[in-house]
Amino acid sequence: MFPDKCSITEQGKPCVNPPEFVVSITVETEEYMVGVTCGKHKQIVSGKIKILQKENKVPSGKVGFSPLKAVGTDCIHGDEEDFIQLDTKNFKN
Ligand SMILES: [Zn+2]
Repeated sequence: MFPDKCSITEQGKPCVNPPEFVVSITVETEEYMVGVTCGKHKQIVSGKIKILQKENKVPSGKVGFSPLKAVGTDCIHGDEEDFIQLDTKNFKN
């Protein structure tokens, strides 16, 4: 479940734009979702996370942005099953 608004608050006012990207931090093999952002605030979020990482408030790792539209649709679910089948074949070979 994701918030329906960008996570950024600018000059005391929360951003009202719909989120476009999921912000995550990857530490080795674990991916931590830390928030969502609109396209306009991507750079600001990236900078904020670096500050939070210095203060040890979030895990230190690689910051990534994934387009929100590609997450959690029925379409993706069908594709996932296909991928699993392909993987199984690859393992048997
Ligand atoms: Zn925003």
